[in-house]
Amino acid sequence: MGCNSLLLQNEKIICAECNHQLPYTNHHILDHNDTTKKFYGIIPIEFSASMLYFHHKGIVQNLIHNLKYKKHEEIGTLLGKWYAKDLKSVANIKTVTEIIPVPLHKKRLKERGYNQVTSFCEALSEELQIPLNNKLLYRSRYSKTQTKKDKEKRKEVSNALFKVNFTEADSNNHFLLIDDVLTSGATLEACAKALLKIPNSKVSIVTIAYTQS
Ligand SMILES: [Zn+2]
Repeated sequence: MGCNSLLLQNEKIICAECNHQLPYTNHHILDHNDTTKKFYGIIPIEFSASMLYFHHKGIVQNLIHNLKYKKHEEIGTLLGKWYAKDLKSVANIKTVTEIIPVPLHKKRLKERGYNQVTSFCEALSEELQIPLNNKLLYRSRYSKTQTKKDKEKRKEVSNALFKVNFTEADSNNHFLLIDDVLTSGATLEACAKALLKIPNSKVSIVTIAYTQS
């Protein structure tokens, strides 16, 4: 799934060569990392980290493409299992009470058949023993933001795009918000703002990949 080469018998999904070359960010051990910096002065975030660096035409781009458009949800499962090992040692992660995937709009979910971050979230949920909640946060209108440039995108992803469907029982949570690729941060910012409307809530962010924008 990384380089299109044939897998050996003992290899699964990613070959040993790609596995060795995966560009880990090590954000989880850095308090001021590239992911954290995206949200400085914009929104209060407890902890944020991306697992891998996304390079144009690189292994991670292939993995994300296969995960997102080719129905290879097992990539998310594998990466989630691996990243959970790193996240287990993070103090801020120990206080997380719910894992929240960035939602797709119903229409896009129907077209694609699955949310590309779900398998990654499920693996994290299982390994970290934190429940996944995919009912709380939802996307309220359909947007075609992917082809837009980042500056336009930040404007376009308004807060109204994401909403929370909460009751009093959802108060006092530390939410771990998950997305596939962090680019401008606009989507995650809008999601975090929606979640922070819930009384006494905290938000942390994890993404599979980080791309410089
Ligand atoms: Zn490979």
